[in-house]
Amino acid sequence: MQDIRWNAFWLGLLLSLLCLIIWAATDAVTALITLSAGLFLYLIGHIYWLHRLHTWLKKPVLNQMPNGTGVWEDIFAALYQEHRRNSRSKTQLSSTLERFRHAASALPDGVVVLNSDNEIEWCNPPAENQLGLNLKHDENQPISYLVRHSDFVEYLQAQEQDESFNSEPIKLKSWRNPEVTLEIQLIPFGSKQKLLICRDVTALEKTEIMRRDFIANVSHELRTPLTVVGGFLETLVDMDGAVPESLKNYFGMMMDQTSRMRRIIEDLLTLSTIESNTQSPDNNEIDMSKLLHQIQNDANSLSKSLNKTTHNIHLDMDKNLHIKGSQEELYSALSNLTSNAIRYTPAGGDIFIGWKLRDNQAVFSVRDTGIGIEQQHIDRLTERFYRVDRGRSRETGGTGLGLAIVKHILNRHQARLEIESQLGVGSTFSIVFPKACVKTKLS
Ligand code: ADP
Repeated sequence: MQDIRWNAFWLGLLLSLLCLIIWAATDAVTALITLSAGLFLYLIGHIYWLHRLHTWLKKPVLNQMPNGTGVWEDIFAALYQEHRRNSRSKTQLSSTLERFRHAASALPDGVVVLNSDNEIEWCNPPAENQLGLNLKHDENQPISYLVRHSDFVEYLQAQEQDESFNSEPIKLKSWRNPEVTLEIQLIPFGSKQKLLICRDVTALEKTEIMRRDFIANVSHELRTPLTVVGGFLETLVDMDGAVPESLKNYFGMMMDQTSRMRRIIEDLLTLSTIESNTQSPDNNEIDMSKLLHQIQNDANSLSKSLNKTTHNIHLDMDKNLHIKGSQEELYSALSNLTSNAIRYTPAGGDIFIGWKLRDNQAVFSVRDTGIGIEQQHIDRLTERFYRVDRGRSRETGGTGLGLAIVKHILNRHQARLEIESQLGVGSTFSIVFPKACVKTKLS
């Protein structure tokens, strides 16, 4: 390829040499006229090709590109190559996009692409079906105008207000067919865009309800016979001479086991009641000062009942910090964590209960100086019946369901559980309540 600068240099040199010869042969005026005429022609040539380029750029069809002469031949050739490369990658890109759309359309789940203003950019047929959308008509429409379910609108708003939105899915009854349960999840991507995934979970939901009902029914059925057995055992032990001395020990063991089974059944029933409650929890203002003092008192009583040397229970609270929620459920969650701290801390140890504001969120924490937990167990602690040390759990009256209950209560309050622990040093269990729950004054 020719270099434009060299090309201009050689042309200029040639023209100057020609003018010098003419000057020598004739006179300076003729030489000057020749130079001007040469430069003028040179300029006209460039203007001509510039004009051709400008005309072509208005309608850039590849096979209508001018060929050019001199440097313009090179310029047009380079432009031709570049244009061909671009149109090739454009074709590739649109075929990739088309393939992506085909793949997304074939997905059994509904997919909606939303822009930063929650307007629909694209959606696949299952999304049209499940959410009642029509891409042709609804493109660029705000999704909240079309999906008017209050839970969905709240979910969308929560996600807009909270930058640290954790995009947990929500379940809601379809507004088009109340028999259908949909699971909807918003996933942020790119620059403030969102992917809305919508899944029909009706069958799963039915199985889940069956499982829940089964556990609740079995627990109910077992409660009465167990109460009868426990009652008879107690009566027999209390009756003078009814139980021979040599068997008293066995009777004591039987009574312990029946009361343990009763506790498990009670916890299973609590869990299934919380799980099957699809309504939002009460939204009452809770006097946290009163609640935390009650928890501290309960913790002292539990400590006394378990050990000769009691624990030192410290309470450090922000008296002006309150929250909204269900008092009964939150009492259960907070006291579960506190009782665990007592049960897994050797007698005489320290327990620190805290209630503070952190980054506009209310945080309840229980720090103990107990046995601690190895890291590998931490993620599984809220599973039903997951116990690190079964022996200790049983000895202290545990059922293995306490943290599962806590987790469900927190989910209902949009709160989260944080666990930090070090084996042999102690653990800290914290509940973080979102800022929407926080009240700094009781009305
Ligand atoms: P459990 O009734 O067995 O205490 P939980 O669901 O309350 O059941 O707790 C699950 C397991 O988590 C317990 O068995 C115990 O191993 C562990 N755990 C809970 N809290 C603590 C704590 N503060 N310190 C050490 N381990 C704990």
